[in-house]
Parts: sequence; C-alpha cells; structure tokens
Amino acid sequence: MTARLYYDDAYLARFTAQIVEASDGGRRVYLDRSAFYPTSGGQLHDRGRIAGAQVLDVVDEEERVAHVLSAPLEPGPVECAIDWARRFDHMQQHSGQHLLSAVAAEMFGFDTVSVHLGEEISTIDVTARSLDPAQMAAIERRVNEAVCENRAITVSYEEAAGAAGLRKASERTGTLRIVTIEGMDRSACGGTHVRRTGEIGPVLLRKLDRVRDTARIEFVCGARAVACARADYDTLNAAARQFCAAAADVPGLIAAQMEKLAAADKDRRKLAAELAVRQGRELYQTAPVNAQGVRVLEIAAAEKPGEMERLRAQSFAQGARCAVLMVGGAPPAVILAASADSGFPAGETLKKWLAELGGRGGGTAQLAQGSLPAAEAGEGLLARWRAHWGS
Ligand SMILES: [Zn+2]
Repeated sequence: MTARLYYDDAYLARFTAQIVEASDGGRRVYLDRSAFYPTSGGQLHDRGRIAGAQVLDVVDEEERVAHVLSAPLEPGPVECAIDWARRFDHMQQHSGQHLLSAVAAEMFGFDTVSVHLGEEISTIDVTARSLDPAQMAAIERRVNEAVCENRAITVSYEEAAGAAGLRKASERTGTLRIVTIEGMDRSACGGTHVRRTGEIGPVLLRKLDRVRDTARIEFVCGARAVACARADYDTLNAAARQFCAAAADVPGLIAAQMEKLAAADKDRRKLAAELAVRQGRELYQTAPVNAQGVRVLEIAAAEKPGEMERLRAQSFAQGARCAVLMVGGAPPAVILAASADSGFPAGETLKKWLAELGGRGGGTAQLAQGSLPAAEAGEGLLARWRAHWGS
C-alpha cells in the first residue's frame, strides 16, 4: 500500500521515500509513500525524478502507485522531485474545472457529466440542450469573478452517508475526500487542487461543441489562458497587418473583401463567356469547307473540354452548314456541335458512336456531350468522325 502524500499536501514537490519493490528490471518501482499523482479522475499523471531516473508515467493500481522510470533503480531510500511546473498547471486546470462546473450549475442548472483534462486543452460536457455564446460569456465572467474573490479551496474527509450538499452525488461508500470551494461548491474528488481560487489565474472559455444531448465547453486556465490569448492576438494582428487596419476592423474587412471577390468572379465569368462566344465565331470563319460544302472542325486537346469549350462549340454551330468535334482529357471527354442545316444530327450520331466505343453520352441535334473509357476509344471516335466527313 502506497501512502499518497498528495491527498493532504498538494504542494509537496520534494520528498524522501523508500523503494519497497521494483519490477520490470527495476524500471517499475513502488514507494512506501509518494507525492507523485497517478493518472486518475480525469487528471494527468505527474513527471519528475526519483533518484537519478526520470519518472515517465505514474499508474494507479488501486492499493499501490507504480512509477515507470527511464532507468532502473533498486530498493532502498531515494530522493524524489516532482516536475512542479507541470503539476501546478494540472492543479490550476483541475481547480478551474471545479469552479467552471459549479458556475454552470449555479447559473443555468447545467450538470457536468464528463471531464477531460488534457496536455493542452481541457473540456467539460454539460447537460445543456442549448448553450449560446452569451451564456458562455456569462459563465466565463462569473468564473473569473470567483477567481478574484480568492475563495479558499479546502479538503475534508466525510462519511458518504452524511455528506450533504455535494454538486454531484458520489457512488462511493465509506469515507469521501471532499473538495470545497468556499461558499460555491462541494465535490468528492481525489485530485490535486490549488489552495485558493486566485491561484487558478485567468479562465478562458473557448470552443463550444454539441455532443449528442450535451454541450462540450473547451477551457484553459492560468498560464495556458494567457498563452492562448497571446496566440489568438498574434493571429488576429497578423491578419490586421495584411489589411493595414485595426484588429477590431478585421471581420468587417474580410466580409467586404469576400463580397468584392464574389462580384469580381461574377464579372470574370461573364467576360470569359463573352470571349468564348467570340472565339467560336472566329473558329467558324477560319474552319475549312469540305467537298460537301460543310465547315468541319476537329479540336483535340490535352484537357477535358469544359464550360468555355461548350460555349465556343455552340457559338461555332450558330454559323451556316458546320460541325465541330472537341476531344480531350484522360479518359477523354467529348463535345459535338452542328448547325441545324448541316445534315448531321449531333446527339443521335454521338450516342451511336459512344455506344460502339463503350462510352456514354448524348444530346440534342445541335449539341451533344459524352465521355469515353480510354484513350484508344478517343482515337476510335476521331476515326469515325473523319470517315463520316471523308477527311
Ligand atoms: Zn478535483
């Protein structure tokens, strides 16, 4: 059985102990007493040193606490030191979570059903069918007020049967370890917490996600909150510099730019379409007239013919007695257009040819489109087109 020193003194960072047992070739050791916190109750494990070895993981084995080491140690007396910066950060996040859950319950009746305290961000899931940004801001304001009120956070041991006023009823029996935030919250918890709410530091609520019937609130406390706010400011400032504007004007400027961009894109599409129509007319003028007196044009390109090519083909076929075939891409795509007086029914012909070549497509007598399965089928199509026109 390991005596857990963190239960009664969360600020104990250096201590002496005895290694009473070692396994895994000395890399997994058990102490008679330990201030190392094992991953449990949503809080991450501590790191630090035992004698000359680094503590990589701390595992709760119910009766005992196992310390996983970077180097083997033998039973005997050892000096131990906890990585205090990491531990204190965990104490801030964990205490901040108690306060946040208490305020969410007090202000809106939201119950905390799940807690995740992570390396970078932490979350609580609350029973809120809807939670809007204004409520988030109100909770955040009240939590930070309670931080400034610097309320005492204390630990007591009470019998489960007689422990009244807990935020969440405990399923445990026997003696409960109860963490109290003066005048605000009583929760059964085995984790490590700061002494007063002031030590939690600033609390910043961030993302809000829906998870089935609950709302997931992301939060950061203490130095993490300051680092997040700094990173957010730097990002916003970088955007503001691009606009040579104040940070507060960035959202409005982005909206205005998006509107301008959409208008410019609409203009560009309109001009491109006009250009394609003109190009179609020019192609008609330059297309050779064959023995039957029909202007026949064949365009093979590397790229699939798209919207602009279709407009060019349609414009081309506005001329008298003409037909145009466009093929391109891999696998090939086809556009076929013909004037009404060409004697060449585009849709019907293309449908027949594509059926023979394993492709698909069709259209009207003046305009048809389709696709072919492979490059060889494209060659087959060109061969049929040329044979039809005797070219
Ligand atoms: Zn706790």
